[in-house]
Amino acid sequence: THFGYQEVPENRKEDLVRGVFSNVAAKYDLMNDMMSLGVHRLWKRFTVDLARARPGQRLLDLAGGTGDLAAALYPKIRPNGSIVVSDINPDMLEVGRRRLADKGILDGVEFVEANAEALPFADGEFDLVTLAFGIRNMTHPERALREIHRVLKTGGRVLILEFSHPRWPGLQSIYDLYSFNLLPRLGEWIAKDRESYQYLVESIRRFPDQETFQAMMEDAGLARVEVFNLSGGIVAVHRGYRL
Ligand code: SAM
Repeated sequence: THFGYQEVPENRKEDLVRGVFSNVAAKYDLMNDMMSLGVHRLWKRFTVDLARARPGQRLLDLAGGTGDLAAALYPKIRPNGSIVVSDINPDMLEVGRRRLADKGILDGVEFVEANAEALPFADGEFDLVTLAFGIRNMTHPERALREIHRVLKTGGRVLILEFSHPRWPGLQSIYDLYSFNLLPRLGEWIAKDRESYQYLVESIRRFPDQETFQAMMEDAGLARVEVFNLSGGIVAVHRGYRL
């Protein structure tokens, strides 16, 4: 499709991703639940548990549009902690702002429109950085990883939740059937937007596997990088530290 990665010139990818998320922002939740059969909530909960956030910490949720991770992390860092929710797309940030406000989460939360590849934050500002289902869409993920390393405090940790590559025998073929046939149809049916979902499927396929992404994190300076496969590797959490 014309949403395929190879045919998108690099300088246009950012605009394209912006457009995709503006199109899907309104139906985003429903689609997430449909696409993952509700399991994305468990993946996010697992990530939040691995984060071991503590009262008083300062957190950054990158590509945090929906506010899901921020809402789950917030009770753990209060009373004195703070969270910055950052996303490149103002429509997605608005979804997050509304969601958090509906939950009564107002104090100690900021929303910052920014590209994760060039963050407007000081060196060593954060105890924890989280990034769920966002790095796959970035033009230069290695720049985002270097920025994460830069804004983390020494001893700070990062958790990256992203689609990965199935590891259970036989799972790949079922997954292919699902993602190439069913998912774009669901996208068309629910969000009236087949192409955006086709793009998402392609971006998942092209994203590096567990070991390659682990090496990318290490190249960015992150240490003690561990991989946690969830749902047979359909998604993985990578955790690393700035030492
Ligand atoms: N983290 C949320 C979640 O898990 O529900 C939202 C995930 S959504 C699939 C991906 C998000 O990444 C979108 O909100 C999109 O705007 C954002 N994004 C894409 N490229 C980005 C970039 N270069 N910098 C910051 N955010 C980006």
